[in-house]
Amino acid sequence: MESSVLPLLSDPAVHTGRARRVGFVLLALLLCAALGAGAYWLALQSYQNAARRQADQRADFYALTLQSELARLETWPRIAAFERALRDLLLQPGDPARRAAANRYLEDVQRSADVNAVYLIDAHGIAIASSNWSLPSSYVGQSYAFRPYFHEAMGAGFGRLYAIGNTTGVPGYFVAAPISAGARVIGVVAVKASLDAFGAALARSGDLVLLSDANGVVFLSSVAALTFRTLTPLSPAVQSRLRQTLQYGDTALTPLSDTQATGWPDTLRLALPGARPRTYEVEYRPVGRLGWQVAVLLDARSQRQSALVAGIATSFAGAFVIAIALTLRLRKQRYLERRRAAAALQQAHEELEQHIARRTAELSQANVELANKVDALNRTQRMLSETRDQAVQAGKLAVLGQMAAGITHELNQPLAALNALSDNTVRLIGRGRMDDVQHNLTLISGMASRMGRIVAQIKAFARKGETERERVNVHEAIRNALLLIEPRRRELDAHIECAPNDDDAVTVLAGSVRLEQVLVNLLRNGLDAMAQTEPAMRALTILVDARDDHVEITVTDNGPGLPEAVRERLFEPFFTTKPPGQGLGLGLAISQAIMEEFHGHLGARNEPGRGASFTLWLERG
Ligand code: ADP
Repeated sequence: MESSVLPLLSDPAVHTGRARRVGFVLLALLLCAALGAGAYWLALQSYQNAARRQADQRADFYALTLQSELARLETWPRIAAFERALRDLLLQPGDPARRAAANRYLEDVQRSADVNAVYLIDAHGIAIASSNWSLPSSYVGQSYAFRPYFHEAMGAGFGRLYAIGNTTGVPGYFVAAPISAGARVIGVVAVKASLDAFGAALARSGDLVLLSDANGVVFLSSVAALTFRTLTPLSPAVQSRLRQTLQYGDTALTPLSDTQATGWPDTLRLALPGARPRTYEVEYRPVGRLGWQVAVLLDARSQRQSALVAGIATSFAGAFVIAIALTLRLRKQRYLERRRAAAALQQAHEELEQHIARRTAELSQANVELANKVDALNRTQRMLSETRDQAVQAGKLAVLGQMAAGITHELNQPLAALNALSDNTVRLIGRGRMDDVQHNLTLISGMASRMGRIVAQIKAFARKGETERERVNVHEAIRNALLLIEPRRRELDAHIECAPNDDDAVTVLAGSVRLEQVLVNLLRNGLDAMAQTEPAMRALTILVDARDDHVEITVTDNGPGLPEAVRERLFEPFFTTKPPGQGLGLGLAISQAIMEEFHGHLGARNEPGRGASFTLWLERG
């Protein structure tokens, strides 16, 4: 398990692939980040430019609006300066009729101009008539000698001032025009107007707009909290002048920004009520003749935020496009791989089919050949079994032929004895020797049955073998076989030793006649083999070894044994080393066939120190 995983992990190809993927992801991230940064920068430029343009336009708009309002206000004292009633009163200030006429006129102007107050100041700076003459807050009798606009107007100029009202405490714009009698200025007509309407418009605009005087004092603003503050800290000289003129009464006039900049700062860092301090860019526009400035404040942060949103959006869009491109590439790759796999599968399928067709053809051919071989084999087997049957039969006949002389001898001997015994018995009957007669008859009967047995055996021997097995007594079969080869034994004067088994009744599954036939074959071959052996050494041994399930019968001789060439062909039909007329070469072949019929077998070997040794192996009955 481990050995199959570890090589995979340490496979350089796997590492290279992973490194490439990581590299690609890093590159894609870098690209997205670069895209985002670029987009942020471009968007910031664009937003800032747009905001500045807008601030420019706004500043222009507010400056123009205020400019026209100031111009409108200035018109009224200029017109009033030509009024006869006002000049008349200045020439005769004690005349009540003239005073009333002047007051009426000033009331009319105040209404028409929609201003706070219009009033007439004599050459000493004392108001002698006013539009509000009838009100408790009347200016009549008040001194305005300290107001710069009075002095400016008395100097044949035009007075202007934004200040907190001395009488009312209400701030306003003061404009004053001189009234002349000939070449001499005899008094001043002044108008006080509130710029509240303009201030309210600024508050509604949503912009952050300040209106500052030449000293940097903010006297009007879109946010009330920023009014009467200063853009930069005021110099001590300016502070003392303001105190003298009471322009802004006793208001504290603290700086808006904690920076120590002088002049008109480009940026202001200030905190609006309820908000944290922020830095604003400032766009200025000069307004009027007093060095006023309309200042439009620009919040740079909102542009940065918008630009950041644009940058992030672009980064994501980039990532999205890369992801789509990757997905498409991957899908294409997968499609190509699937096609390649399908083609490979198709090819493999075709090759398999061809292979199967080839193999089928080969198998069919092999089948035909096998069938032919089986046919041939069957034919051969049939032929062989026919040959074997014929050979068995022929072998039996041959044995019969060979044994004919022996059998004849066997029968002749008891026949001659029978003759002699029966003659003798007839004589004994004549003499009345009945005991001897009985003895003779017993002998005759025994001999007859012996002859009958010999005949029966010859009959059985000539008959074709039967395949049924029965229980056959081994020793009886051996005794019968010995009986059959007895003439040949006697001829060679050989000694046959039969080592009987303890159990004389041991039986095997066989056919008695066929088993005897096999035994006769082995005994006869053993005797034949010892023909050349020294007569004293001619000995055959028959050994019976009974086991639990089988019995082994071994016949060993003192002949020359079995040379290798003979042993190889021992069971071959018609193989013989005997001279013509003495052997057909069928004995062992028939014996082997018979043993197979008994489900047993026949083996041959050389017994060291002796000759050949043949063993019959038979199932126990
Ligand atoms: P036949 O006896 O007619 O030759 P067999 O089939 O019985 O036919 O024997 C075949 C041959 O086997 C014999 O010719 C002989 O050469 C050899 N043979 C059989 N038994 C023995 C034996 N006991 N010792 C040596 N040779 C033997």
